[in-house]
Amino acid sequence: MIVVLKHGTSPDRQEQLIHWLKNLGLQIHVSKGESYTVLGLVGDTSRVDMDLVGSLDIVDAVKRVSEPFKCCNRKFHPEDTVVEVGDVKIGGGHFAMIAGPCSVESEEQIVAVAKAVKASGADLLRGGAFKPRTSPYDFAGLKAEGLELLKIARAETGLPFVTELMNIMDLDLFEDVDVIQVGARNMQNFDLLRELGKVDKPILLKRGLANTLKELLMSAEYIMASGNEQVMLCERGIRTFSDYTRNTLDLSAVPMLRELSHLPIIVDPSHATGIARLVPPMALAATAAGADGLIIEVHNDPIHALCDGAQSLRPEEYDKLAAKVRSIRGVVA
Ligand code: PEP
Ligand code: MN
Repeated sequence: MIVVLKHGTSPDRQEQLIHWLKNLGLQIHVSKGESYTVLGLVGDTSRVDMDLVGSLDIVDAVKRVSEPFKCCNRKFHPEDTVVEVGDVKIGGGHFAMIAGPCSVESEEQIVAVAKAVKASGADLLRGGAFKPRTSPYDFAGLKAEGLELLKIARAETGLPFVTELMNIMDLDLFEDVDVIQVGARNMQNFDLLRELGKVDKPILLKRGLANTLKELLMSAEYIMASGNEQVMLCERGIRTFSDYTRNTLDLSAVPMLRELSHLPIIVDPSHATGIARLVPPMALAATAAGADGLIIEVHNDPIHALCDGAQSLRPEEYDKLAAKVRSIRGVVA
C-alpha cells in the first residue's frame, strides 16, 4: 500500500502518521521527491483502514500495490534510484560503463585490462575471482588471490570493481570489494540474497537463465527487504530457442523494468550473445533502449583466456565501442 502525502505536509504531522502506522506492525519506506512524499507500507496492510487514512487532511491518496514486490516497485519510489560507487553514480540519468575480463587470471592481465578500459573511459572494472562454471573441471577462478589482484588493479587505475560472490561463507573476503555481483545461477539463492540485504554495499543482481522479470524483481526485493536498497538489476540474456547465440538478449526487459522499478538497469551483451562480434551491436541497442549501464567482457589476449574468450572484446575493440556508446547516449539521454 502507498500513502501519498499532500505537498507541504509538515514533518511533525508526517512523523505522527508514520508512528501510528508503525504501531500497526508495518515497515514504512519514505520516498521524498521535489513535489511529493510517498509512504510505502510493507507488511500486513489488511489492518489499515484505507478510508480512515484517506480522510486525513495531510493525505492526498491511498493506493493498494497489487504487485508482490514492494521496495523495488516504482509506485513506492517514483524517482529513479541512483546507486553510488565512490564517485561513480549509476541510474537517474547517470550511465556506467563496466568492463574487464570474465576471470582474473594474473596481476599482469588484470592490471593491463584495467588500464586499457580506464583509458577508454570505463567507470568500473569487472573480473571474476570466484567463478561459477558448468563443468567442475574448468578454471573456477583464483578466489581470494583474485580479489587481491583486483585491489591492485584498483590501486593502479582508481577504478572501483565489481566481482561475484557465490557463497555467503566467503563474505568476509569481500569487505574491501566495491560492488558485489550475484550471478545468474544464484539469482534465486534466497539465503544469499537475505544476507546481502545486511551488507552496506551495492549489489549487481543478474537475471537468472530462465527467470521472469517478476522473479528478478522478487529477488531484488529479498535484498531490499533485508535492508540494502543499493541494488542494480542486470539483464544478461535468457534461454529461449537461440541456436546461434549463447542466450537471447531480452532488450524489452529494459523499458519494462524501467516502468516497474526505480532501480538502475545494466545490460550484459557479452553473456547474452557469447560472441565477441555481436557484443557491439547489442551494446548499442541496449544503450538506445535506455539502459543505465553496460557490463562488457574485455580481455587483452582473448584466444588464451581461461574463461569466455570467445565473447571477450580486445581493448581496441572496446575503445571503439565505448566511443559509439557515448554517441548513442548523446541521442537518448
Ligand atoms: C559473469 O558475469 O562472469 C557471469 C558468470 O555472468 P552470469 O552469472 O550472468 O552468467
Ligand atoms: Mn564470463
